[in-house]
Amino acid sequence: MIIVMSHTASESEIAAVVDRVHEIGLKTELSKGEERTLVGVIGANAYAYREAFSHLRGIHEIIPITKPFKLASREFRPTNTVVDVGGVRIGDDEVVIMAGPCSVEGEEMLLETARHVARQGARVLRGGAFKPRTSPYSFQGLGESALKMMAAARDETGLKVVTEVVSPSDVELVAGYADILQLGTRNMQNYALLQEAGRSGKPVLLKRGMSSTVEEWLLAAEYVLSQGNRDVILCERGIRTYETATRFTLDLNVVPLVRELSHLPVIVDPSQATGKWSLVRPMSLAAVAAGAHGLIIEVHPTPNQALSDGAQSLDFANFDKLMADVRRLLGAMEKQLA
Ligand code: PEP
Ligand code: MN
Repeated sequence: MIIVMSHTASESEIAAVVDRVHEIGLKTELSKGEERTLVGVIGANAYAYREAFSHLRGIHEIIPITKPFKLASREFRPTNTVVDVGGVRIGDDEVVIMAGPCSVEGEEMLLETARHVARQGARVLRGGAFKPRTSPYSFQGLGESALKMMAAARDETGLKVVTEVVSPSDVELVAGYADILQLGTRNMQNYALLQEAGRSGKPVLLKRGMSSTVEEWLLAAEYVLSQGNRDVILCERGIRTYETATRFTLDLNVVPLVRELSHLPVIVDPSQATGKWSLVRPMSLAAVAAGAHGLIIEVHPTPNQALSDGAQSLDFANFDKLMADVRRLLGAMEKQLA
């Protein structure tokens, strides 16, 4: 439930409410708005305790959160969350471009890609060090040495680094190098991993499970948020449908929908979603038009030699075209790149 404090409530009245919640054995999350403070009361059946607050001062009203996800809900936090990654603001009015190879294959290709996408206006470098491959015989990533290459590329280019972590026991290692932890579609319901990432102190980019509903996705975000980590970025990356002409079906409905249901930023990955490089630029534009806060794009110096996802990776020239078109579209929308 949410305890809505009156706009004249004093700090000590807010503190008394928070103390009372803790006495009952429930958790609090404060949301300080310009007008008033909201005290989120988190725990099973919290609304049943509403009478326990009747003697306290400064309370305007107590309302149940009707959605199963609480901390992720727009009811709990009416204003947009902006995830600030060392000055790169995700969730604000400006659109953030993340780009780089599917997998880090070596130092040279990574640096070459990083330099190129940075020059074109990307702010975040993507690149897998630990790859969750459908087949155990496919390239699994270079592991920690790839993380070191990502960190070196950050030092040279100023790009922030996003990379996937696939196991709870690797969270600390990956968090030592990355600016954002990516949780992949195949792990969206790996609750031990979600909780460990929630405790890492790093922003989390949470891909939607390929067979997950929006509610399941937001409940997965709730696992991270409930560890005290407020920096969750949602990422739509395509879902499984009966269609086989594309790798997945990019569900752009969720961009405006999730923005209604949640305060969290939502970005789109048209590379995994389409599986086909020629569809990446048009679907990037559609995602931005739908209100995505950012894009994450696979770029490779020589896509036909890529060790993973070459068919959906853009070469440099096509990435440049994408960036030029995104800029033009944003101009028409009176928006900008971050
Ligand atoms: C990726 O970004 O390369 C990736 C494996 O993503 P997803 O988890 O969306 O398949
Ligand atoms: Mn990929």
